[in-house]
Amino acid sequence: MHDKTRLTGLNLIQLFNNGTNPNSTCCMTGKPFIIPVFIPHQGCPHQCVFCNQKTITGSTATFPDAESLRKIVFDFLDFARAHRTNVQIAFYGGNFLGLKAERLCFLLNKATDLIHQGAADSIRFSTRPDTITDERLKMIAAYPIKIIELGAQSMDDSVLKKIKRGHSSRDTEKALKLLREHGYVAGLQLMVGLPDEDEASLLSTGRYIVNLHPDFVRIYPTVVLKESLLARWYLEGRYFPLSIKEAVERVKILYRLFQENDIPVIRMGLQASEDLDAGDRIVAGPYHPSFGELVYSALFFDKAKKMLENSKPLPDTITLKVNPRSLSKMRGHKNRNMIKLKAEFRAIAIDLVCDSSLSEDTVEMV
Ligand code: SF4
Repeated sequence: MHDKTRLTGLNLIQLFNNGTNPNSTCCMTGKPFIIPVFIPHQGCPHQCVFCNQKTITGSTATFPDAESLRKIVFDFLDFARAHRTNVQIAFYGGNFLGLKAERLCFLLNKATDLIHQGAADSIRFSTRPDTITDERLKMIAAYPIKIIELGAQSMDDSVLKKIKRGHSSRDTEKALKLLREHGYVAGLQLMVGLPDEDEASLLSTGRYIVNLHPDFVRIYPTVVLKESLLARWYLEGRYFPLSIKEAVERVKILYRLFQENDIPVIRMGLQASEDLDAGDRIVAGPYHPSFGELVYSALFFDKAKKMLENSKPLPDTITLKVNPRSLSKMRGHKNRNMIKLKAEFRAIAIDLVCDSSLSEDTVEMV
C-alpha cells in the first residue's frame, strides 16, 4: 500500500498547487491541479549522493496498488475540480520510466481508468533523462500523458559525476529532444548548491538550459537529507551546504536568466511537509517551507532598490505599485523589504499600493 499519510491532504493540495509562480493564478485557469502519487525510489537503480526519497516524500511504502491510487485521486477530487478545470495525476519521487514494463503499464492503466471515469484529465511524471528512449516512449504512447519532467539537476558533467548521478548533460539534451519529437510538454528539474558547484558552474548550467529551452523548470536548493551519502560527507566535513541566503542568491541567478528567456519557473524550493518542517529528516542545508516566497521577495527587493537608485533625488514619500497578488512578495517576510528599503534610502516614506492592471512580476514607482 502506498502511504501518503505523512503529507496530509491539505498540505498536499497547498504544496503542489500554490501559486509559486508569479504568473500563475489560483482558480479555474488552464494551470493544472496536480494530484501527486509518490513512488519513492521505484524504478531507480542509482543512488545519487543527495537522495533519500523516503525522507523527502515522507513515504515508507513502495508501490501503490489500484485501490490506494484510486483513494489518493478521489480524496482530492472535489477540491481539485472546485479549483481547476485541468486535473493531472502525477507520479513523482522515483524513476517512472525505469519501472519494469509490467509495473509501468499497471500504473498507467489504472490512472487511465480514473481519467475515463472523469476523475482527472491527464497524467504527468518525473523520470531520469537516461530512461527516455524511443522504445519506452512507444510503450507509453497510447496513454493520456501530457507532461514529462526530467531530473537534470545540473548540466555540468563534473558536478553530475561528483553527485554520482549516472548520466551526463548530453543525456538530458538528447532526452529533451526526444520528448519534443514525441509531442510531450517537457520540463527540467534543477538543483543549486550541489557538491563542486560554484556560481560559474551554475551560470553555465543556466545558459545550457536556456539554449535547450525546456517548456518549464523547477529549481530545488540542495538540502542534506538524513541517511543520504551527502549526510555522511557533511558530517565528515567534506560538503558544506549553502545557507538559506546563499541559496536564494543562487536561485535568483537562474530565475532571472530563465525569465529573460521566457522559460517559466514553476517551482522554487522543496515541497514542504510536516516531516520536513519538523526538521528531523534534514541534517543541514537551506530548507525553508516558503523558499519560493523568499526568492520572489528578494527579486522584488532588487527591483525596487534599483528603481529608487535610478530616481535620485527621491521625494519625501514614494509610492510603489504592485499587483495585489504580489503584495506580500514586495513587503517581504515580516515587512523586511520595506524596512530594508527605508534603511538604505534614508528619510523616505514608502506607500505600497495595489494595481491589478500590473503583471504579477512588476513593481512601478509613482
Ligand atoms: S535518480 Fe532520482 S530516485 Fe534515483 S537516486 Fe537519484 S534522485 Fe533518487
